[in-house]
Amino acid sequence: MQSSQAENAVPAVQKIRADRKFFGNGLKAILGQPYINDNGTFFEVLAVVHVSVDWQVEYFLWDGISRSIKVTSCAKDRQDFMEMLSGAWPLETTNPMYEEFKYRKRMAINYNPENDKDLMVKNFDLLLRNTERILNTAAMRNESHVATLLNAYKDGRRRYPCPGNKGDENDHEGYVITALRKPSGNRLHAYCPRCKNMYRKDDVPIQSITIIPEHPAKGLRLDEIIEELKKLEEQEK
Ligand SMILES: [Zn+2]
Repeated sequence: MQSSQAENAVPAVQKIRADRKFFGNGLKAILGQPYINDNGTFFEVLAVVHVSVDWQVEYFLWDGISRSIKVTSCAKDRQDFMEMLSGAWPLETTNPMYEEFKYRKRMAINYNPENDKDLMVKNFDLLLRNTERILNTAAMRNESHVATLLNAYKDGRRRYPCPGNKGDENDHEGYVITALRKPSGNRLHAYCPRCKNMYRKDDVPIQSITIIPEHPAKGLRLDEIIEELKKLEEQEK
């Protein structure tokens, strides 16, 4: 009896409150279209997903400084989202920022903070060369791990002799890129610009630091800092 009841059971229909349904369908109407609002904020709805009795929206946001991909739900922060929409107009292809917007969106979608370590190693000379610029530019310094590391290097901290050192000459110097506090002993990965290689050191007495940023709320991300530095150096040539 019980099994036949289960077989005949009609799938439960999720009841969605009228305003939420209205909102969800409205979001679908602007899906995939770039907008700019009167604060100079650019955005584009990337996905609209029905979650339980609510709608969730994933969108790309670019405030002219930093870009991010945000998720918000109808029930949670509809008010702020609606406010952003109310001052927004389609970003026309003729707008001088259109191509820049498309480029930033592509970068944001492809961005993976896990790659920051590789990104830092790959652009190490550029970053080191621009230490002062990074530390003196609010958007580059804000909440960026690379700024923390550069500041430490500058003071002679977070530097360790590279195993490539020969004899008494201390001519190879490694720069800590990541450090982990482990119960078995602290472990760090450092980069030697002379060997152009990373090396690992265990049992190091250091504080826990990491290069992986947790989506900084303000300021540029590492890939944006690198992009900006390349642009600035090109201009100065
Ligand atoms: Zn070395």
